[in-house]
Amino acid sequence: MSDAVTPARDRGALSARLRQLPQVHRLADSLPHATPAVYRVAASQAVLDRARLTLRQSSDPAAARVAQLAEDAAVLAARLASPHLAPVINGTGVILHTNLGRAPLAEAALAHVERVARGYSTLEWDPETGRRGSRMSHLDEVLPALTGAEAAMAVNNNAGAVLLALFTLAMGRSVIVSRGQLVEIGGAFRIPDVMRVSGARLVEVGTTNKTRLSDYASAIVPGETALLLHVHPSNFRQTGFVESVAPGELAALGREAGVPVMADLGSGVLFPLTMGGAQEPAVRDVVAAGADVTTFSGDKLLGGPQAGLIVGRAELVGAMRRHPLARALRLDKMTLAALEVTLRLYREGRQDEIPLWRMLAQSEDALVQRATRLRRLVRRQMAGEAGVQLTVRRTTAPVGGGSLPEVMSGTAVLAVRSANLSAEALEARLRAGTPAMAVRVAEDSVWVDLRTVAPSEERVAAGCIVRAVTAP
Ligand SMILES: *Cc1c(COP(=O)(O)O)cnc(C)c1O
Repeated sequence: MSDAVTPARDRGALSARLRQLPQVHRLADSLPHATPAVYRVAASQAVLDRARLTLRQSSDPAAARVAQLAEDAAVLAARLASPHLAPVINGTGVILHTNLGRAPLAEAALAHVERVARGYSTLEWDPETGRRGSRMSHLDEVLPALTGAEAAMAVNNNAGAVLLALFTLAMGRSVIVSRGQLVEIGGAFRIPDVMRVSGARLVEVGTTNKTRLSDYASAIVPGETALLLHVHPSNFRQTGFVESVAPGELAALGREAGVPVMADLGSGVLFPLTMGGAQEPAVRDVVAAGADVTTFSGDKLLGGPQAGLIVGRAELVGAMRRHPLARALRLDKMTLAALEVTLRLYREGRQDEIPLWRMLAQSEDALVQRATRLRRLVRRQMAGEAGVQLTVRRTTAPVGGGSLPEVMSGTAVLAVRSANLSAEALEARLRAGTPAMAVRVAEDSVWVDLRTVAPSEERVAAGCIVRAVTAP
């Protein structure tokens, strides 16, 4: 309603109501002073702006109720006062959950991040000569040792690694890819789009379900073909009447034709992995099979920080290191610290210290025991609460996160059901809690999967559940 058509009487009533609203600083001052003033003021401002808008639009007098305004502002101020990027208890059972930050880091990696970030470091300084060093050099020993490659480097993420490789090796020329591998990884990373921005020309070969070596061979144009690219399908699996060319076969063709071969492994594991019938080749095997460049993620099945790892022939990796884009994609010292130590854990045979492998290794029976312990913790804190049903049950969950599609592992959940709340309402309360808890909703219950809850988080998780089911 615009002022022009509002009768003068209503306008008077509206301005009287607007005048009744408290001033920002008064409202801010009435909020709990444990919250820093800057957030109390920002929250009060936001709540008052909203109240004015509501009064203008609906002239609902309830919008001006001071007690309600103070309550809303206190909630908002408290929310503003804690970091927006916050820890979450992952009760989904999905170990590599992209939205929840993928891989939790090993203690040793975290400790090194803290040591390096607290003060100064050898990031780009060579203590032997006292001269400038290269931040790329920190992985020069460990990555080739783990993969058998001549040279290695790391950038911000695997999408960046693929981009850098295409820019460096294929700009203005063509890259041959199987139609069965023109995948979307999620988060808008589509192989054809990445190709376009890198200025490389995409040459599709084969069909959706079948691509043969001869398809690649007949598409090679000397001088024009820059790269044969093999992309790991990562988050989907083809079955039935399918055929594709393994990186090793492609490498043989590339060598014959004098065209480099790149394998984008996506996840990339440092030892061969078989799970639920799915096989992941080790990076070392792909390198040994002859791939000239291999790229993989730091925070998928490596279990480290977000990063993109590039290993391969020294000449090609060297060109990528020197490319101007490498500077834009470079890692910061905290990520480098975490990545180097995570890689060293593999080198030293200590991969069972990496949370990813610990979580995967838990047997279904061990998880049943942990779910039972969580139930006990919840019951103890809830003494006498009626209408809440807590059941330990066995089920399966995807390993997830753009790795090992359809690979399900047996697990145990604590199923929580409330007589007074729908499962959806309970899930929403768990999300809104501090810390927030992510869970699955199934069969009218909330399912808390113990595989992704660290033993040290059980007590906190129990508190989250108790608050969610008992809050008024
Ligand atoms: C996940 C994935 C990427 C992107 O890796 P990020 O580290 O998430 O940037 C690229 N290619 C493949 C095949 C992938 O699976």
